[in-house]
Amino acid sequence: MNLQDYINIVPDWPKPGVQFKDITPLMGNGDAFRYATDQIVEYARKKEIDLVVGPEARGFIVGCPVAYSLGVGFAPVRKEGKLPRETIKVEYGLEYGKDVLTIHKDAVKPGQRVLITDDLLATGGTIDATIKLVEQLGGVVAGIAFLIELNYLNGRANLDGYDILTLLTYE
Ligand code: 5GP
Repeated sequence: MNLQDYINIVPDWPKPGVQFKDITPLMGNGDAFRYATDQIVEYARKKEIDLVVGPEARGFIVGCPVAYSLGVGFAPVRKEGKLPRETIKVEYGLEYGKDVLTIHKDAVKPGQRVLITDDLLATGGTIDATIKLVEQLGGVVAGIAFLIELNYLNGRANLDGYDILTLLTYE
C-alpha cells in the first residue's frame, strides 16, 4: 500500500504558495485508512500507551481509531472556548499572531503514558503546544504519530527529545 497515492496536493490553498496536503482521500478509502491506523497502532503497542491525545480537528480523525484499537481513551485538545469544563491553556505562535490550545484539567492523569496524534507535522508549533498541555497535567509523552511530515519545515527540531513516527514525508 502506497499511502502517497491517497494524498491530494492542492496548489495555492489556503493561500498562494502553499501546497496543501489533503488527507481526505486517505480517510475516504477504507483500506488506506485502516492501513495507516494499523501502522500507528503497531508503533503505539510497543510504548504501553494509556491515553491518546490529539488537537482539533484532524488529530481526532487520526487518533480516535488508534485509541479504539488499543483499547484506551482519547482526549481532545481544542481551541479556546470549545471545551465545556475547567481547562488549562497554552499560547503558541502562528505565522501572524498567536493562538491558544486548551485541554480539560482532568483529561490526563499524572504518570499516564500518552500518544499524541495529528495528521501533519509542519513547523511543529501545534504539537509543541499539545506536549506542553500534556506535561502540565503530569502526563508522559511516550510517542507522537503523524500521517505526514513536511521535512523542509524542520518541525522535528521543535520537538527535540521526543519519539516521532511519520508515515509519509515530503521533501
Ligand atoms: P504546525 O503547527 O506543525 O506548523 O502545523 C501543523 C498543523 O497545521 C496540523 O494540525 C495540520 O492539521 C495543519 N496543516 C498545516 N499544513 C497542512 C497541510 O498541508 N495539510 C494538512 N492536512 N494539514 C495541514
